[in-house]
Amino acid sequence: MLREMGLGPIWRLRGVPDHQLIARPEEMRVSPADNDSPRNEAPPSSVSTYTTELKQRGGMPRPTSQENTVPTGDSVASNAQGNASRVAMLDWPDLEQAIRDCNACVLCERRNMAVPGIGDRNADWLLVGEGPGAEEDRKGEPFVGQAGKLLDAMLGAIGLSRNKGIYIANAVKCRPPGNRTPASEELAACYPFLARQIALLQPKLIIALGRPAAQVLLNREIRISAERGVPHDYAGIPLIVTYHPAYLLRNQHDKAKAWADLCLARRLVPPQV
Ligand code: URA
Repeated sequence: MLREMGLGPIWRLRGVPDHQLIARPEEMRVSPADNDSPRNEAPPSSVSTYTTELKQRGGMPRPTSQENTVPTGDSVASNAQGNASRVAMLDWPDLEQAIRDCNACVLCERRNMAVPGIGDRNADWLLVGEGPGAEEDRKGEPFVGQAGKLLDAMLGAIGLSRNKGIYIANAVKCRPPGNRTPASEELAACYPFLARQIALLQPKLIIALGRPAAQVLLNREIRISAERGVPHDYAGIPLIVTYHPAYLLRNQHDKAKAWADLCLARRLVPPQV
């Protein structure tokens, strides 16, 4: 099946022990010029202002319990704070409804459907993408386009499917027009929803797919090439950052690194199969 999808053999389990698949640090070093933005755009100006904006607000909040707060200090942040305290109380159905009704940022204006997330609400693994694309916006489900097919193939290669043991969400729940990278204020406005999903799910492992998701969860600017390959931490939960499937579709040579990241995740928290 993978070959039919043109994915090559990289996602096939070949009986190679995981430790042989994990790149050593010197192998993981890649050119800083690598563009690991899923949508293959130049790093958006918002990325360079990302840390500045968050610093001005005292940084993206770190959840300490089921309750989460968001930054204060500007209009987006104060809206977000009001939104966050409300969102932090919601159960799954109300959370999904709140996402569908949300108008906290400009992304609501052109959406067809908001995309709350999908999967097993008892999952150990949470995967966080960037934001819905055109197909996701039409169907209201994350990762149903080409990138989603690759993601399913990657999960399938370790015996997982999106219906069991996995929950899939996005950093922003509405499609950025033209599939542009979400702006920092859009990521900040949407963060309470992701934080609440994490609080409800209580995953044992989080995988950030691509830079925007990783930045929101790590609360700082990052490059995937510099941060992947080692576990990070999100409020006590191991966090792996790796390349976005859309990036991998265009940069096949990095699939081996993403495969190594998946194997690292599997070692850290063996998935429910
Ligand atoms: N890319 C994402 O990051 N999320 C989706 O849901 C689809 C494509």
